Amino acid sequence: MCAANAIGVSSYRKENMEPQTNAVEDMFGQEALGLENQGASLKDIVMYPNPLLREKSSLFLGSIPHDGTLQKLMNDMVRTMTETRAMGLSAIQVGVPVRVLVVMTDDGPVKMVNPVVKAVGGNQYSDEGCLSLPFIYTKINRPEQTTVTYFNEKGDSVTFEYEGVTARAVLHEIDHLDGVLFLDKMNFVQRESTLKKFKRTKKKMQRDFGE
Ligand SMILES: [Zn+2]
Repeated sequence: MCAANAIGVSSYRKENMEPQTNAVEDMFGQEALGLENQGASLKDIVMYPNPLLREKSSLFLGSIPHDGTLQKLMNDMVRTMTETRAMGLSAIQVGVPVRVLVVMTDDGPVKMVNPVVKAVGGNQYSDEGCLSLPFIYTKINRPEQTTVTYFNEKGDSVTFEYEGVTARAVLHEIDHLDGVLFLDKMNFVQRESTLKKFKRTKKKMQRDFGE
């Protein structure tokens, strides 16, 4: 593999992922196919404990470039997110330490540049996972709603309120931009058990895929 501690995302598709409803499955599938047709690539995921995951990503400075580089990165990230059936992906997880993320919403994928959390409210305690520690789901406390301001790929400023599973995904990805992992939100016992499960998963993946 080219990147240290990275594995090919193609590996994920060989395993059974979390069951999805048909509607969500269709949305993910169609999005991935559309992007594949537009030339978007699948990216390798930076895996825990790669130290890159602890870095604070830089603000994307200046105006959105017209050469398509940022759009290409975001399209690659959306294709990678949809093909792995993930709810979100941050640029640092594909090795690019800039404040860019993508999330899957009821209206399809949303691409965010320099997202900032403006408000949070309520509380939810439910399962959360991370592509950098794949196949492990643990119950985590998160706000139920969040209001986020970001720039879209055209450079327009957007403010939007998310709730439920989408709020969870947005907040999880914004954490990545600050070098924060969902492990940091767990108590000691949860973290130890998650890391144990992850070690087992990693061994199994190395055995099955030779990675
Ligand atoms: Zn994650």
